[in-house]
Amino acid sequence: MIVDEAFLKSQIRTVPDWPKPGIQFRDVTTIFENPQAWRAVMDSLIHRYMNIEFDRIGALDARGFLMGSTLSYALNKPLILFRKKGKLPYHTVAQDYALEYGTATLEVHADTLQKGDKVILADDLIATGGTLLAASQLVSQLGGQTLEAASIMDLPDLGGSRKLKDAGIPVFSLCEFE
Ligand code: AMP
Repeated sequence: MIVDEAFLKSQIRTVPDWPKPGIQFRDVTTIFENPQAWRAVMDSLIHRYMNIEFDRIGALDARGFLMGSTLSYALNKPLILFRKKGKLPYHTVAQDYALEYGTATLEVHADTLQKGDKVILADDLIATGGTLLAASQLVSQLGGQTLEAASIMDLPDLGGSRKLKDAGIPVFSLCEFE
């Protein structure tokens, strides 16, 4: 089962010029507010990963948490959180990265993975791919392997999914926006 792409795209709100002029912000809060669309999104992802062997779900701050949490619950896998700088209380490892609009640092608890763990990463959207690439670098730093990066939307014109694939990280997205 995979959600219909045209239906999914029709349910995502586009906010022009936010948070900066020139950015077309693809707002997934309209998916979270719509049980039919949200269930179709999560059923599609659950279906994709239910017969794959892996160890952990890695969820990206903040909208990726909602996807990761649902996948973790449905597939009975440990959930690990990749958070923006300064939010995690224990020993962390950190990775700086560039965003479509600015720079940021991603952190994860240093004991969150076992060596050799296979991780599925989840975030709502791939723009430049910087955030998912940073998360996959943290996975590698801790001795794990990113099996796939899952997103609701890809913005292929920004080159992120290409960059991730070139770095050896398979990518799965439910829809694309130009
Ligand atoms: P990136 O690291 O450039 O792939 O950016 C991905 C992250 O930034 C995701 O977590 C998105 O939530 C957010 N993001 C970047 N660009 C957009 C956009 N045009 N619309 C909505 N969210 C965006």
